[in-house]
Amino acid sequence: MADLESVGGFIEYAPSRESTDIVTIKDRYQLFIGGKFVDAKSGATFTTINPATEAPLAQVAEAGADDVEAAVKAARKAAPKWAKLAPSERAKVVYRIARQLQERAREFAVLETLDGGKPIKESRDVDVPLAAAHFFYYAGWADKLEWAFANRTARPIGVVGQVIPWNFPLLMAAWKLAPALATGNTVVLKPAETTPLTALLLAEVLQEAEVPPGVVNIVTGAGATGAALVSHPGVDKIAFTGSTGVGRAIQEALAGTGKRLTLELGGKAANIVYEDAAIDQAVEGIVNGIFFNQGHVCCAGSRLLVQESVQELVLDKLHRRMEQLRIGDPLDKNTDVGAINSAEQLGRITELVEAGEAEGGDVWQPSCPIPDKGFWFRPTVIANVAQSHRVVREEIFGPVLSVLTFRTPEEAVAKANNTAYGLSAGIWTEKGSKMLWTANQLKAGVVWSNTFNQFDPTSPFGGFKESGFGREGGIHGLEAYVELEARS
Ligand code: NDP
Repeated sequence: MADLESVGGFIEYAPSRESTDIVTIKDRYQLFIGGKFVDAKSGATFTTINPATEAPLAQVAEAGADDVEAAVKAARKAAPKWAKLAPSERAKVVYRIARQLQERAREFAVLETLDGGKPIKESRDVDVPLAAAHFFYYAGWADKLEWAFANRTARPIGVVGQVIPWNFPLLMAAWKLAPALATGNTVVLKPAETTPLTALLLAEVLQEAEVPPGVVNIVTGAGATGAALVSHPGVDKIAFTGSTGVGRAIQEALAGTGKRLTLELGGKAANIVYEDAAIDQAVEGIVNGIFFNQGHVCCAGSRLLVQESVQELVLDKLHRRMEQLRIGDPLDKNTDVGAINSAEQLGRITELVEAGEAEGGDVWQPSCPIPDKGFWFRPTVIANVAQSHRVVREEIFGPVLSVLTFRTPEEAVAKANNTAYGLSAGIWTEKGSKMLWTANQLKAGVVWSNTFNQFDPTSPFGGFKESGFGREGGIHGLEAYVELEARS
């Protein structure tokens, strides 16, 4: 095999495009209320586009306050019967959703990639299988709630409003719906404006799985739709994933209302590489940590903390590795980095990288070509930055890595914790004792050791500080959806 230098550092791959034939994209998508697809009462619609081409995909109903009202009413009406259903029957329904998702996995993967811009290999191998796994996992809990909380009886909360973001549209719907349904709640779900299509395809799956009408309602629209849902007095609990700014506004809106709230917000994770780490493995972890899903990941390893003695080696290997990343058509099975989700997000990323450069950072990007149309940003490394710089402090939510150095483990920990966020972190070292010591010092909800971005439905996920509160996944994820009463 020719070495990389002799082929100009880049291996050419023949295109291998996933066919879109499996998906029928409708011209118009409606709201899903009371088990039926209905137009918004105002008749308003918005356009969802393919961010890789800027081509319109479909018109989608824009729910107003009166549609949210109808959805909450439907959820309220369905609540008593759903809560009283034998837990083993509820489990069957949730299992059926999981099975149907698996049956239609390819269709979901292609639609997710078309609407959101993420590489097909990620939607196919990560988003869709994990979404199904969440429904399977929580289906298993539905008839075991009696044993989940020692000496306490779990009851459903009632009607839950769920507002989800655009970075993992189907997976976030699954994270929210699966525990809510397994515990006997009914739901009104608000998908993100730029990625509504897989949630609406999921509505078809809910019908096929015979989820009773009104148990899940889906209202598409923009921030105003989310705000109407959050402030609706008929909702008993809000579960939100998104920006810290909107999370803060929701917390203010809910103060004093007695509504329960869980918030999964932003992050600025430290990925700590000690000098004794397996460097090639660490470089793979750095790449996966920040360039997976174009860096549109709340737990992305966006701050590389590398021990000073190996900085040059790590950056050299990282640059070489990044030259191999394939950027472009998200439907191509070879693509590593897809399209940025929206023009707005591209604007935010561009602005922050310019700020990083203006503050004195050394910006490095690979030489890869990028398509003319669509929203693209080259994977980027910004070295020579200080902890006070915006690119080190603010969540960029794009394929941009800031690099800081440290000399001692104490300095690594101090720098890692010097952030308003506390969602995740990574540690790379061959020494188990150093790994455990470091992990114990880090104020982060999830700490990965010699790996990054590993998810499993059995494992709780959530943050500290401005990354929010409450946990999703595992038995902890059930707690957010139940009222617990002491057993007499
Ligand atoms: P938002 O927080 O605005 O979006 C998340 C969800 O909340 C969307 O469904 C959105 O609707 C909805 N929403 C917006 N405003 C309100 C409101 N006032 N009340 C209730 N719901 C509302 O994130 P953005 O899409 O604007 O992204 C901005 C930044 O947020 C990103 O750059 C990133 O840093 C961060 N972010 C973090 C995420 C995470 O997982 N932690 C996920 C997404 C973003 P709509 O999409 O229609 O605006």
